[in-house]
Amino acid sequence: MMHLNQTLEHMKSLPPLTLAERKAGLKRLAQDIKTNQQAIADAINADFSHRSQHETRLAEIMLSLDEIHHNLKHLRRWTQPVVQHSNWKFYPSKCAIVPQPLGVVGIMAPWNYPFNLVMAPLAAAIAAGNRVMVKPSEITTQTAELIKDMLHRVFGADVVHVVTGDVEVAAAFSQLPLDHILFTGSTQVGKIIMRNAAEHLTPVTLELGGKSPVVIDAGYDLNRAARSIVSGKWFNAGQTCIAPDYILIDPKRKTALLAAIKTQFEQAYPDWNNNPDYTHIVNDQHHNRLASLLQDIPSEQVIHLTADSEQDRRFTPCLVNDPDLDSPLMQNEIFGPIMPIISSPNLEADLAFINQRARPLTLYLFSNRSSTIERIKTQTTSGSLAINDTLVQFAQEGLAFGGVGASGMGSYHGHEGFKAMSHMKPVYYQSRLNFNGLARAPFTRLKDKIINWL
Ligand code: NAD
Repeated sequence: MMHLNQTLEHMKSLPPLTLAERKAGLKRLAQDIKTNQQAIADAINADFSHRSQHETRLAEIMLSLDEIHHNLKHLRRWTQPVVQHSNWKFYPSKCAIVPQPLGVVGIMAPWNYPFNLVMAPLAAAIAAGNRVMVKPSEITTQTAELIKDMLHRVFGADVVHVVTGDVEVAAAFSQLPLDHILFTGSTQVGKIIMRNAAEHLTPVTLELGGKSPVVIDAGYDLNRAARSIVSGKWFNAGQTCIAPDYILIDPKRKTALLAAIKTQFEQAYPDWNNNPDYTHIVNDQHHNRLASLLQDIPSEQVIHLTADSEQDRRFTPCLVNDPDLDSPLMQNEIFGPIMPIISSPNLEADLAFINQRARPLTLYLFSNRSSTIERIKTQTTSGSLAINDTLVQFAQEGLAFGGVGASGMGSYHGHEGFKAMSHMKPVYYQSRLNFNGLARAPFTRLKDKIINWL
């Protein structure tokens, strides 16, 4: 992939973006997104065979614009050096942390939110003054072409260069000597990216997936929990990295929970087979993958929430009552509209269940008791913790977003994104008059005494 290397070399030879260029670029990007909202929604809709327009407006357009505007609002302050106290023994020297662009940053995106997961990291990379190479997912081709046209039009290909192509191109992209890679995708491919990046010691931010659990505390209103779980699980038909993956529930409350979810689902998606707000599965391969997760599960354990699907890629939403924990359904991230409900008699059992497994990207807790909240907060480790709602933690620019362990490494959004895309360079300013001679050879007896005292 010779031309990728040449493109990168050329971009590396160009200076970083000035503050004025960053601001002007982000403003043009926001304007272009607003002008082309419908084209963006149409491209994603075509890629998915059907994607809810409301979901696209919220998760792709609104969230991208929010992230861009947040960067625009705080950019000037973030770029200023942050003065630090110097150690008094080195008085009157000065210290500061000076943010500096990394150079040329690579962004690799998945297909599930194919627009936002390019735009949100891009906003951070541009705000921090970098030039950027982007590799959108090869699964959502129409969106990838739209992104390419948009970013080349808004920034010019010297500032943001979009590379489209298949997995081979993605592999070559991750082998480039980039100054940083922000990768969003599966844990499995994340390992490949990190291995490839290691060749050039390219630092990585890995935004990965995993199985995000839901814990419902004893006494928490099941209808309230169900309403929020339904919107989190079936938004984008479950094809969301932070979708609730499975629910832990006291077996005594399970029947009531199943009924509450069914009711809430019917309210959210009336006339399901014709409801335009229910998104399709992105392609046949993923549809077949989801169908195969249900293949070996006895039919009496599968509770369909609707009549059978009448369209090829509209996957019938269902609950699975206490699946075998060794089944593929419980061994892999589901990433689709299937919800396992697992019996777990109390908080101790919930904690043990979660802590025996890979660290999740997010954990959802429904509870009004501070003691339960405190225990989950301190005794589990997840990329983020959301209490009494689902998904909306992603939309908070004030909260860093990222995983931990198998669910990822590093984070972005808001100021954390700016920092991830910057070298936060420590700078030390020695003053003309100082006492450092006391700590230099030759170490006389007097200096020896001073060192003892220090
Ligand atoms: P994926 O890992 O298959 O693909 C992601 C990117 O990696 C794509 O751009 C693809 O071109 C590239 N890629 C694929 N194979 C590659 C290889 N062998 N070498 C180099 N690059 C390769 O993920 P996906 O199926 O597009 O997305 C779904 C996954 O992404 C889920 O696991 C989901 O949880 C995760 N995800 C995480 C976040 C987050 O913010 N943490 C957000 C969305 C999705």
